[in-house]
Amino acid sequence: MIQLFIPLNFLGFVYREIRQSLANIERLFGLLEKPVKVEDRPGAPDLHVTAGTVRFENVRFRYHPDRPILEGVSLEIPAGQKVAVVGPSGAGKSTLSRLLFRFYDADRGRITIDGQDIREVTQDSLRRAIGVVPQDTVLFNESIAYNIAYGRPDATPEEIREAVRLAHLEDFVSRLPNGLDTVVGERGLKVSGGEKQRIAIARMLLKDPPILVFDEATSSLDSGSEKAILAALNEVASRRTTLVIAHRLSTVMDADNIVVLENGRVIEQGTHLQLLEQDGAYRRLWEHQHESGSPRGSSTARDFDP
Ligand code: ADP
Ligand code: MG
Repeated sequence: MIQLFIPLNFLGFVYREIRQSLANIERLFGLLEKPVKVEDRPGAPDLHVTAGTVRFENVRFRYHPDRPILEGVSLEIPAGQKVAVVGPSGAGKSTLSRLLFRFYDADRGRITIDGQDIREVTQDSLRRAIGVVPQDTVLFNESIAYNIAYGRPDATPEEIREAVRLAHLEDFVSRLPNGLDTVVGERGLKVSGGEKQRIAIARMLLKDPPILVFDEATSSLDSGSEKAILAALNEVASRRTTLVIAHRLSTVMDADNIVVLENGRVIEQGTHLQLLEQDGAYRRLWEHQHESGSPRGSSTARDFDP
């Protein structure tokens, strides 16, 4: 056994070395292209969230100079309302959430929260105000408790347990060798896509920010837990400004406004019923999901069919 461990350890060492130098190369490329990291303006004030109104004003953005992604997107999420962005994959939906979180800056136009341009405030205060449940959650190689409390390091054990309960993680945690103290990635601990998503949801519930972003937040959940978690999320979202990005239309029918994004442009917007009446892209998307019977979601769609 010992003989086997040494070479494996050594391989791990080599692997880490290679990964490190790749990361350095990436960094170098980043510098050669354009600085990806956004910087705080010197002396920038903190974001001051009063009502929580989010506005995208004629936002243009491209990751690479030769390929426009967003071509002048304007949309408003009035304080306390739920606005959904739907559209085919690759339309630029997740890019909107990355821009709001300021992983990148818009090339033109601006994004404001309660009238403050997000480029003019500290990133810290901006990110404190927004809770994102992303499409793909990356966990830290730390305990499950740490991963859940990330963003609220002062959370009490009771608060963490409550978030675990609301995100339907109790069964998962009870199966772990050390419960909440089990370290991700240690002793082969595997966390499924759905479990990661629920950890991200627990993290957001605990952080309890005024602005919420769900990016296909329940796409990896089985329909049983999806219903229950959607109920918990809707409960939280009912009092907050919420941006829901969704591929499956069944999850956004109740939104105050639904924005249809295609090729980086807003092509339609309205409520579910208004959009169905318009007989345009949304209706086609809706009928497509209904007919093709995508393995999950189609049954929900059918539930609402007249
Ligand atoms: P959606 O969420 O609507 O599926 P995204 O906003 O993730 O779409 O992506 C929009 C387009 O931008 C896609 O064509 C995607 O390939 C491209 N894209 C996304 N992220 C990056 C990136 N980091 N670098 C370059 N292109 C990207
Ligand atoms: Mg996406």
